[in-house]
Amino acid sequence: MEENREKNIMNKTVIVTGGSRGIGAEIVKSLAKENYNVVLNYNKSEEEANKIKEELLKENIQIEIFKADISKREQVKKLIEYTIQKYKTIDVLINNAGISKEKLFTSITDEEWNEIINVNLNSVFYCTQEALSSMINKKSGCIINISSIWGLTGASCEVAYSTAKAGINGLTKSLAKELGPSNIRVNAIAPGIIDTKMNDYLTKEEKENIKEQIPLNKIGKSIDIAKCIKWLIEDEYTTGQIISINGGWYI
Ligand code: NAP
Repeated sequence: MEENREKNIMNKTVIVTGGSRGIGAEIVKSLAKENYNVVLNYNKSEEEANKIKEELLKENIQIEIFKADISKREQVKKLIEYTIQKYKTIDVLINNAGISKEKLFTSITDEEWNEIINVNLNSVFYCTQEALSSMINKKSGCIINISSIWGLTGASCEVAYSTAKAGINGLTKSLAKELGPSNIRVNAIAPGIIDTKMNDYLTKEEKENIKEQIPLNKIGKSIDIAKCIKWLIEDEYTTGQIISINGGWYI
């Protein structure tokens, strides 16, 4: 028991926001299996979060789950405090949580605009700023933001989402420059289309049409993103990059 606790403190600690399903859940599972101390953050999907915890426990892998709406600074503070109390440090922060909404720019309300910006972009500001004190102190850290192809190219009827993701790209590049001297790397992954609940609103036909536009002729899987995350954590010389994993959809 004591041995286990000591081993945990020595392992790298990672927070994955929005880890209850889709891309985040895949990242949680792959890193937990690699012996990282994983804190899975969720907001609404408690049942899904518990299911992942139980699934991993069957393989003798322990993760922590923590409910927090990451668009709220006070809740983010609690998530960071919990992690530091549990593992003493934060080595890796994966800003993954996000929401999308298709709507004509002319119809979007202030409330909808603010929600998209708060959950997708302001959350990255809050989580990163709160996690940084732990990283700056030890002059080491890795931050990975999940952006989107739409932050690079822009998407019709997703102006707020594209704006938030473009903001993430700007934050990633500038923060990488600011934090380089502290040996903290900041990168982003900009996925194309990945098979998750986020795209459930698309019909089968619409998905087929998209596939035809993708040179690799397939929709991505969450594991495609999780593999890149693992590589980015282990790497030591990549910072300020927006890596677009998109099957060649946007080159
Ligand atoms: P998803 O299946 O809809 O999962 C979204 C996750 O974000 C859920 O775990 C959700 O948890 C969490 N979340 C949402 N609002 C939150 C909040 N306020 N606080 C904490 N957690 C919150 O979507 P996904 O496809 O895995 O997307 C993950 C990331 O990839 C997002 O940033 C998305 O923009 C990006 N992305 C996805 C695609 C794609 O095609 N799927 C493409 C490009 C980029 P709760 O249900 O518990 O709130």
